[in-house]
Amino acid sequence: MVVGFEKAVSATKSVVTSAKKAPTTLSLDRIINFARGDPTMYESYWRQMGEKCTVVISGHNLMSYFSNAGHFCWFLMPELDRAIRRLHCVVGNAVVDDDRYIVVGNGSTQLFQAVLYALSSSYDPDTEPLSVVAAAPFYSSYPEETEFLRSRLYKWAGDAYSFDKDGAYIEVVTSPNNPDGAIREAVVNRDGGKLIHDLAYYWPQYTPITGKADNDIMLFTFSKATGHAGSRIGWAIVKDVEVATKMVKFMELSSIGVSKESQLRAAKILEVISDDCQNSAPDKEENFFEYGQRLMSDRWEKLREVVKRNGVFSLPKYPQDYCNFIGKYTDPSPAFAWLKSKDGLNCDNLLRELKIVTRGGTNFGVDSNYTRISMLSPNEEFNLLLERLSAIQGTIINGNN
Ligand code: PMP
Repeated sequence: MVVGFEKAVSATKSVVTSAKKAPTTLSLDRIINFARGDPTMYESYWRQMGEKCTVVISGHNLMSYFSNAGHFCWFLMPELDRAIRRLHCVVGNAVVDDDRYIVVGNGSTQLFQAVLYALSSSYDPDTEPLSVVAAAPFYSSYPEETEFLRSRLYKWAGDAYSFDKDGAYIEVVTSPNNPDGAIREAVVNRDGGKLIHDLAYYWPQYTPITGKADNDIMLFTFSKATGHAGSRIGWAIVKDVEVATKMVKFMELSSIGVSKESQLRAAKILEVISDDCQNSAPDKEENFFEYGQRLMSDRWEKLREVVKRNGVFSLPKYPQDYCNFIGKYTDPSPAFAWLKSKDGLNCDNLLRELKIVTRGGTNFGVDSNYTRISMLSPNEEFNLLLERLSAIQGTIINGNN
């Protein structure tokens, strides 16, 4: 087994001169995948919650297409609308006053496409498609989602930092950013620009909550807020009723709404979190966000320690800030580690030799000396990652670009 490991490591004469710590047998065979941001690490928390979040649905329940006929978003269940607004009020991360429109989607992935349609459909289709940009490194799915249908309404135009066209455009602002965890603002700032704020990670476990976001179009997702990615629930908070109505039209045509089973489950879980956060009993349990924040900062501390010791990579540094929700200064602990090879090597390839699969920098519009590692995997896998990274030490002899 150890031979196999060494073979993998020395195959291209590219990686490691000495192994600091002999990896355990368990760690040698398995390819571990950190390329996706599958938030399975939260499973243990929800298991502990037992039946508290159980939803029972009988055969005759939830049969109609409609959830709220007459409401602009007729497929949004009132229970979910209330639960979303309540949770944002409890956490203090977004303005959800009565004049804000909530649109539910099949994950924020579908809502992103709904927003692109809503913002671009009023333009003359005979003119050039509307440019969609995001500052690099950007979430790797934006280019694909924008280009997939080869729409005549909009097109991917790459890195916002190098966008220099006049006229209308859409900029996606992801904050905290996927992949690098940075807190961001719009970078183009020109007339004719429309902004989409993707706030998937603006929750206390990932970043200090410094104020209520109040942007024109904000996207959130159940996947990253609580870890329930499989329910495929996302929501948009929108100021302009016309934009919100067009988004609803898009949803109508692409999926005639959103599963009510999923909405009901999401509503239940969000309410349980809000109840726990508002529980003021002296002997109360840690709430979901406190748990998540503790776990994530513990992981970051361990990862930083390993990265510092092996000397091969570097990680971004983030300033501490006061988290209004936690009530103290906290360190950001992003959902992804944005790893950089100090020697300018292809970071993704280098880690693949250690059977660690990551998503390389070129997917995010930057160089291959960066790679993204998910911090949301189950404990056992995260520990394997630390173990394998600990085994890398010393100098890298050959380039492996
Ligand atoms: N935006 C960002 C920044 C993301 O990281 C993700 C998930 N990786 C999404 C949107 C999509 O989330 P959902 O599961 O709600 O489709």
